[in-house]
Amino acid sequence: MKVYKDLHQYPELSGQEVNSAAKLAKEARKLGFDVTEKVGGTGVVALMKNGPGPVVMIRADMDGLPVIEQTGLDFASKVIATTEEGMETGVMHACGHDTHMTGWLGAARQLAARKNEWSGTLMMILQPAEERGRGARDMLNDGLFKRFPKPDYALAFHNSSAAPAGEIGYTAGYTLANVDSINIVVHGVGGHGAYPQSTKDPIVLASRIVSTLQTLVSRELDPQDPAVVTVGSFQAGSKHNIISDKATLLLTVRSYSDATRQQIIDGITRIAKGEAIAAGIPEDLMPEVTYKKEYTPSTWNDPDFTRQMAGVFAEHFGADRVKEGKPSMAGEDFGRYYRADNSIKSMIFWVGGVPQEIWDEAQKNGSKLPSLHSPFWAPQADKVVATGAEALTLATLKLLKK
Ligand SMILES: [Zn+2]
Ligand SMILES: [Zn+2]
Repeated sequence: MKVYKDLHQYPELSGQEVNSAAKLAKEARKLGFDVTEKVGGTGVVALMKNGPGPVVMIRADMDGLPVIEQTGLDFASKVIATTEEGMETGVMHACGHDTHMTGWLGAARQLAARKNEWSGTLMMILQPAEERGRGARDMLNDGLFKRFPKPDYALAFHNSSAAPAGEIGYTAGYTLANVDSINIVVHGVGGHGAYPQSTKDPIVLASRIVSTLQTLVSRELDPQDPAVVTVGSFQAGSKHNIISDKATLLLTVRSYSDATRQQIIDGITRIAKGEAIAAGIPEDLMPEVTYKKEYTPSTWNDPDFTRQMAGVFAEHFGADRVKEGKPSMAGEDFGRYYRADNSIKSMIFWVGGVPQEIWDEAQKNGSKLPSLHSPFWAPQADKVVATGAEALTLATLKLLKK
């Protein structure tokens, strides 16, 4: 808890995790790990080679969020920092990555102390910039699986605001989604609001596009194949009596399989263009649909491996504390390690963080609890850290059994 409170009080933004990395690198060195810093930015790789056997990778992410903490904890963050966009902001571990780092250290301590019980290579990594979806990629591009051993197994946990403290949740198969951010610039022909006949109104056209986009998931996808198309921002116009010449739509798109992802992106492009044609927009003013090649890819939990590990957890913690759950439409870049090499058996699991009495109360009266990324999210850290550390230790001991 001393380590946790310190990490919590001094969070760092994505890509700026200098002190968090240094603190934990120092701890890992003390435990006898061979530590390399500055891998893919502020990333850390701590290796412990301990005889023949497979390679187990355990990953924790380090970044906090540009959120002003409002938990009222006596070790709440008061840190102010500047984002990459140059915005000054409060910083908070609102996604609970401080519990991941502390659980990581707990597992490192356990596994170093119990070295005589296992044989193989333990590769413990600290990853930057998860919240920007690029930390895993940056570490991989910096030779994570070339300069260091390629893992046979990859494990991580994420704290959860949707489960009571100390409960483990898992999903076999797709567990987290592809996340794409898509921009649509809808062009029109501007003019006076009183003379629509001499304009092409981009607000009416963009409204049609928004409506038609609703049919992508509801009418074009297999109902058994979940996806989300959300228009989160619609901006156009400046004044009552002016027809604008432009409207901008910002979308988030979520899916699991790469084929579905492509189908939705193609559908968005087709609908934007089709509606523009229907509105009589000239060829040179067709909507522009853009998205980044780099996106957060979906996370796949190897089903057999996940069930095997869930069995190990259930045996230790009791079946009532280990629950199979539904996949989430949130994103996580942990999936990139498996995507970099499909021979890796990979699993990320949830560790519940809501104090039991608050959880019970909310179940009774249906009240809403703060979610991850909320300025009020205060997980019961001792339970999250202990459960996470214990589960990672157990899994590793099982996989590297002598
Ligand atoms: Zn997050
Ligand atoms: Zn997170």
